[in-house]
Amino acid sequence: MENKLYLVKIGGSVITDIKRPNTARRTEIRRLSTEIKKALASGKKVIIGHGGGSFPHTVAHKYMVHKGFVNGDSRMGASLTQHSAASLNSIVMEQLLEDGIQAVSFPPSAGAVAKDCRIVDWNMNPIKQALKDGFVPVTYGDVVLDRKQGVCIASTEEVFRYLAYKLRPYKIVIGTDVDGLFTADPKIDRQASMIREIGPRNIAYALNFASKSRKVDVTGGMKTKLVDVYKISKRTGAICQIVNARVPGRIEKALEDLRVLGTVINAHTPYTPSR
Ligand code: ADP
Repeated sequence: MENKLYLVKIGGSVITDIKRPNTARRTEIRRLSTEIKKALASGKKVIIGHGGGSFPHTVAHKYMVHKGFVNGDSRMGASLTQHSAASLNSIVMEQLLEDGIQAVSFPPSAGAVAKDCRIVDWNMNPIKQALKDGFVPVTYGDVVLDRKQGVCIASTEEVFRYLAYKLRPYKIVIGTDVDGLFTADPKIDRQASMIREIGPRNIAYALNFASKSRKVDVTGGMKTKLVDVYKISKRTGAICQIVNARVPGRIEKALEDLRVLGTVINAHTPYTPSR
């Protein structure tokens, strides 16, 4: 029985069609659920997080929910965004349960409070208890009440930052729709090359490339992702790995600490996969 804690994020770009509002990619959700189930077989503790993709982002963008209470429609916009994120979570939960994963949903909007878009308060006791009792907590990028601006959008990476500070995971796997972090957006620049490891010596260099990210959604895009995971690694010692969740087997291998294509972000000692 393994006791290490793993956090695994499945990007909204993987489980939804980002070009079509409220469209889930059910085949991908099914495959990823199976991969996570296999990784759970060794008895490791796992918290699943997922992005919202075309579910909450469309409405969040329309009402500028990431900017807070900006006009009379902001509260309605926040409510609609929360509902939209919960709808995708419900699809994910249905699949996990169908596969026999003892999943329990922990929506950040129901428990967390933020200040300036950073979660500052969230009672971790129910999540800790759930992990102890053999459940698999599931959380996601969500609307969160904000002490400064009214409401904000907490990305899954922000949610993981808070969870990591409190729960000290061994590893954080970030599944997205590209193989890792590149010297330019690989979907736009065919010359882009992948950066295999990011540590104290090359973080500034890597951030420079991530800042060239063109696709910036309400959660900030690739740069925010890198800033957040590096912070997590620095403060908690967790190993972070960005992998392509659209390629079958990569999430499973990353969760099993096997050698897999991706970018490892480690602010401390070098990381060596087990095989
Ligand atoms: P997710 O929905 O998985 O959280 P995002 O869509 O927010 O992911 O970010 C992933 C996207 O970031 C990729 O699809 C890629 O097109 C883009 N991107 C921009 N710059 C980079 C870069 N330097 N390296 C890798 N991907 C990048």
